[in-house]
Amino acid sequence: YQAKRQKLSVCVFESWMGRVVAEQLHIAKRLASAIAEKQLSLNFQPQVDLRSGLLIGAEALCRWHDDELGDVSPGKFIPIAEERGMIVALGNWVIEEACSQLAEWREQGHPMVGQLAINIAAQQFEEDDLAANVLHCCAYFGIEASQLSLEITESGIMENPEKAIAMTEVLKSKGLGLSIDDFGTGYSSLAYLKRFAADKIKIDISFIRDMLTSDNDRVIVATIIAMANTLGLETIAEGIENQKQIKALLAMGCAQGQGYYFDRPLTAAQFAQRWLI
Ligand code: C2E
Ligand code: MG
Ligand code: MG
Ligand code: MG
Repeated sequence: YQAKRQKLSVCVFESWMGRVVAEQLHIAKRLASAIAEKQLSLNFQPQVDLRSGLLIGAEALCRWHDDELGDVSPGKFIPIAEERGMIVALGNWVIEEACSQLAEWREQGHPMVGQLAINIAAQQFEEDDLAANVLHCCAYFGIEASQLSLEITESGIMENPEKAIAMTEVLKSKGLGLSIDDFGTGYSSLAYLKRFAADKIKIDISFIRDMLTSDNDRVIVATIIAMANTLGLETIAEGIENQKQIKALLAMGCAQGQGYYFDRPLTAAQFAQRWLI
């Protein structure tokens, strides 16, 4: 009886696993063709100066609408792209599209203000030709490297910190901006942080969300800002949804923000209409 029960539970587990794997595989196949056929798109979320509310830059966020699956969130398809060896191709498309969009806005007579930030996955950071790729796209579209900023997550850096440090030096020497994304969630050591040639830290959304209700989160935010200031790094808060968060952040010395309070990620046309002159 005991053996039978165990066997039964194993069967249930396997069928559940099988379904998840099959679903992932199906999504992965459709994603592969979406990348190959350039069916992804970018949205743009404004980044603002918290004192003036004026635009200081934007973040490009990848979007995928599939005819069969509907809108698939990046929270779902980016990990699949990472697991199945597609993230470098996806990331290269993002870089190209971001440069192309900057050129288009400029040609339409409303150039981008500040830098456009692009998310770079850890695997892209492992590619020796990342800098050359980005510079090639910039040259092709007539964009200055300094108009772009690359965002890499803190946990992405910690996958191979020595390599990441070497890579950031190359990128910085070419004039590209560099931010550490989702900061506070990745267990990086101060020793690495000091050597990492970033110019900005993005305080993770989870701390901003809870900073008004949780003493712990408020202290973490204050500590991150103080540490960044000491290291000469700028800070930007992600996920700002209300005025109270802005007040608190300014009081702690963080002067930049991004979040639904200012605007959601927008299409290129919406972004230009609402945020560019
Ligand atoms: P992220 O880079 O940390 O981007 C911030 C996420 O927070 C975005 O989610 C954005 O839409 C969301 N967000 C912004 N303001 C608010 C707010 O006020 N409240 C809330 N609740 N959320 C807010 P999104 O667009 O779903 O992207 C999720 C993640 O997917 C990104 O996190 C990034 O890690 C990844 N991702 C998106 N596009 C790309 C890409 O082109 N390449 C790579 N490698 N990853 C990407
Ligand atoms: Mg980001
Ligand atoms: Mg983030
Ligand atoms: Mg994130």
